[in-house]
Amino acid sequence: MHTNQSKPKNKALLDLILLGHVNEMAVSIVAANLQTIIGLNTDIRTVIGDPDYAFVPGRNQFDATRIIKTLCAITDGAPLKLGMIENDLCTPILTFVYGESQLGGKAALVSLHRLSAEDPAVTYQRIAKISLHEVGHLLGIKHCWKTTCLMKHSSNLEPLDSLSMYFCSACEYEIKRSMEVLVNRNT
Ligand SMILES: [Zn+2]
Ligand SMILES: [Zn+2]
Repeated sequence: MHTNQSKPKNKALLDLILLGHVNEMAVSIVAANLQTIIGLNTDIRTVIGDPDYAFVPGRNQFDATRIIKTLCAITDGAPLKLGMIENDLCTPILTFVYGESQLGGKAALVSLHRLSAEDPAVTYQRIAKISLHEVGHLLGIKHCWKTTCLMKHSSNLEPLDSLSMYFCSACEYEIKRSMEVLVNRNT
């Protein structure tokens, strides 16, 4: 009857991993949005230094796939990892990515590099949207075709800016189900 009360209620389920210097306000806003929109408690950790091992010479970018592999190798802390980086990201296939994630996996990554707007509020909104989208993938949610849903794929800033700050009801339902599984496994 009282089993729930012995569980730590605020245990972090996701660690924010900072790869080099990352704008503090952006980190706080991402943590706040993961908490309010998905219900994910987060811990903020710092990894000092840029991920030089993932630098792609000649492109001045970092390989998102390699960084995600490194985030996956972290065995302590929360079960999910979201890396944040200010440098530009690419993958072996794509010339740039705002973020990258393992579908139903452990680690995702977000770059602030291409998200700047004249209005800082818009910049932070973009960072929050990409973070929520990539964490949605971590929770097993695929791309959605509804035009304003956070799980809709944005290939550039225009569609990103037209997204709402919410998941559609179908994606929200799937996220709630994944969250229940995650909470049960980790408390
Ligand atoms: Zn996506
Ligand atoms: Zn959706």
